[in-house]
Amino acid sequence: MTEQEAGSDVGNTKTYAENINGNWYLTGEKWFCSNPDADLAMVLARPKGNEKGTKGLSLFLLPKLIDNKTPNDYEILRLKDKLGGRSFASGEIRLNKAFAYLVGDQNQGFKQMTDMINMSRLSNGVRSSGMMQRSLQECLYISKNRKAFNTKLINLPLMQKQILKIFLLAESSRSIVFHSAKVLEKADDGVDIYKILFRILTPLIKFRSCRDARKVTGDLMEVRGGCGYIEEWSDARMVRDAHLGSIWEGTSNIVALDVIRSLKKNDNLKVFKKYLFDVVGNFDIAKDRKYFNDNIEKVFNFALTIISNNIEHSARQISSALYYLSASIFSYNEGHLEPELSYRKKLAKLILKHKICTNDPLQKEDLENSIKSFPNLFSH
Ligand SMILES: Cc1cc2nc3c(=O)[nH]c(=O)nc-3n(C[C@H](O)[C@H](O)[C@H](O)COP(=O)(O)OP(=O)(O)OC[C@H]3O[C@@H](n4cnc5c(N)ncnc54)[C@H](O)[C@@H]3O)c2cc1C
Repeated sequence: MTEQEAGSDVGNTKTYAENINGNWYLTGEKWFCSNPDADLAMVLARPKGNEKGTKGLSLFLLPKLIDNKTPNDYEILRLKDKLGGRSFASGEIRLNKAFAYLVGDQNQGFKQMTDMINMSRLSNGVRSSGMMQRSLQECLYISKNRKAFNTKLINLPLMQKQILKIFLLAESSRSIVFHSAKVLEKADDGVDIYKILFRILTPLIKFRSCRDARKVTGDLMEVRGGCGYIEEWSDARMVRDAHLGSIWEGTSNIVALDVIRSLKKNDNLKVFKKYLFDVVGNFDIAKDRKYFNDNIEKVFNFALTIISNNIEHSARQISSALYYLSASIFSYNEGHLEPELSYRKKLAKLILKHKICTNDPLQKEDLENSIKSFPNLFSH
């Protein structure tokens, strides 16, 4: 997709397609193509004479070889020298009337590409979730083995706080990702409400999990001390790769705006709110149900204000609030369904308290209680 003047703004695509004797040929320059030596690539281009914007774009399949032998008419101009994602190549491509096959309806190119983008946005969020989980495990391993000041790092109050912060973000992401996997299964079975939920959860995960992975991988790097900064360990690579997650397949701003778009469509906001109420409705402790329901009201009132007044400035803020609210409810639900996961109810409240409700940063008891709530995390 991406061209020099058409990254976030895909509708500005300049690459054009010509139909000559029933065959399609593409001309133009693509500025970012990962895996540029692939045998096949999907390419967006505008058939000559088509309208401007995303509506005039069509999707094409570009083979590397024509008839499995002759190289197609495009060239890799340069490979990018990247901060991360170094185990795969990304290149700039010039298409010189390259032969391609039209895929699907000529006027549905962008829509078809969007289907793929949504899947890869989700996979980026899941990847970030995995990176945070790895960071948490490495952080626990280091702090339970390395000593300073005659004690294991995990016994030091400030280290405990650092671990809790990583734990909170990594496990929030885990809850929302695993819940979304179940939603996806039902959406794939064709159940409409799950299709709507999945449409909303995908940009939420891509936005927030990818951003949290930047922080979590950076914090882990510090937990390993000086070694964390050295390439012999995995931390530097993790930090580099985490940053990519919130840039490609839509930057944070673009994805936060997509959250708003997904909520604006039809009655999606109401469907999402009702779904969260329904999940909470199954919780067996009345006081907890009230706590979650009050927070659902609070967050969705904020969302409604933003959406009805078109306040783009707050798109990221509401995306974060909806993400953590959902993660918290899904985490509690895990504890509710599986007795051996009851610690996730405590985690759920911690997520809400620190990410949605205002909190006094000077409150000492909060930290001490949190540490007691997760004895397994700190056992060594
Ligand atoms: C390693 C790597 C591999 C890539 N591989 C591919 C690939 O295989 N195929 C492909 O098509 N692309 C690929 N990309 C491109 C990537 O998807 C784009 O770089 C990305 O979508 C951003 O587009 P851009 O670079 O043009 O930035 P711009 O669109 O110019 O954005 C610049 C800044 O402006 C902000 N911005 C833009 N619009 C708005 C708005 N409406 N409101 C608020 N802020 C806004 C953005 O958030 C960003 O911070 C790759 C990128 C990288 C780094």
